[in-house]
Amino acid sequence: MRTIIWKCMECESETRYKGLCRDCTIYDEETGEITMPIQRKRLNSDRTLWESPIKMGSLATKDMLKSMRLSRQKRPSKKQISLLAEEIKELQEAQSELSNEGEGLIEFGEPVEIKGDDE
Ligand SMILES: [Zn+2]
Repeated sequence: MRTIIWKCMECESETRYKGLCRDCTIYDEETGEITMPIQRKRLNSDRTLWESPIKMGSLATKDMLKSMRLSRQKRPSKKQISLLAEEIKELQEAQSELSNEGEGLIEFGEPVEIKGDDE
């Protein structure tokens, strides 16, 4: 099971849930509305900063499709096709994760109930 860690780059606190950092997000004192949201960044399980593969990935996929089309005489190998399918699947997953992240802007993860986790 992969572990996803969310880290606030401002105060370096780490959590297991995404969302805004409660300590660093700035609120309007009167209305309580968020004036400066500080979003936690996602870390990989090896603690490197997770970056969306969408931008680079979609370019690579397009290039691959293009070169496949250009080289008609040389059909793509099964391996190439499965690589491409894998890449597309990864892109779709990343895209759905990103759209989930959008909710993090307004939703706070509660800093409780991590107990009982059997990792
Ligand atoms: Zn913070």
